Amino acid sequence: MGFYVKFWGTRGSIPTPGYSTQKYGGNTSCVEVRVDDQIYICDGGTGLRELGEDILRRQNHPKSFHMFFSHSHWDHIQGFPFFSPAYIPAYKLVVYGTDEGDSRIHDLLSGQMSSDYFPVDFSELQGQIVSDFIGKGGRELEGVKVDYFGQKHPGDSWAFSFVKDGSKVVYATDSEIDLLLPNKDKVNDNLDAPRQVPADLVEFVRGADLLVADGQYSDEEYRTKEGWGHPRATTVVDLALQANVSQLAIFHHDPMHTDDMVEKKIAQCQERVDRVGGKLRIFGAREGVELRLD
Ligand SMILES: [Zn+2]
Ligand SMILES: [Zn+2]
Repeated sequence: MGFYVKFWGTRGSIPTPGYSTQKYGGNTSCVEVRVDDQIYICDGGTGLRELGEDILRRQNHPKSFHMFFSHSHWDHIQGFPFFSPAYIPAYKLVVYGTDEGDSRIHDLLSGQMSSDYFPVDFSELQGQIVSDFIGKGGRELEGVKVDYFGQKHPGDSWAFSFVKDGSKVVYATDSEIDLLLPNKDKVNDNLDAPRQVPADLVEFVRGADLLVADGQYSDEEYRTKEGWGHPRATTVVDLALQANVSQLAIFHHDPMHTDDMVEKKIAQCQERVDRVGGKLRIFGAREGVELRLD
């Protein structure tokens, strides 16, 4: 059985409920990767709340989940105090750091529940919440090989890859790839120039059936947003093309983007693929959409 991937929150920075964002959604980062009924959760933005409710409605769902946090900015952890399974004794949430002894995310999840911010203390959660780590070279978790990759973002962030039976999903959000381009200046002068993405990143992503990647800004917006921690969506297209990715979900939409603006950004990406005759399929990650990868 292949991967199922469902988008529970696709927005970056802050939730954006409202009429103008109802197509792509207003909840912040949360993506569910599922295989053989095992659940691998990427980030706990506000989308995590609805994922929790959905899990409780499923029949025969597992009582243990693997949770991966790209980093601890609000838009990636804020849903955690509203994740219902965390309150139920029968559930076990395993929160993965990158290396042994890395309990940073676990500590921040509990820190955001201190009484100044939230009425329920972390210690009152009835579910079992434990820290674990992936480790260098990746780790097999219930038949899925999970690995991580360090990204360029204020305070750092991590991408995660999931591989099973030759099928591969990469979740790579909050990553300003544009700052890492060896030909950055040339690209700034001429946006049509191919972007030289660092080889180690291309290798990490290589051959993905689905790449879910931060593509927050259009080319025009990035001119004034350099250093803010997010890339041009079109740079992610070049990464996907160089890494032979099949499908690219542009993710972490800017909170200022209406649905129309997201669509214009995706069209800009599609033009770039068409110009080089690539076979890459691109779409804007949309809350509530589920994909099955065979
Ligand atoms: Zn973010
Ligand atoms: Zn961030």
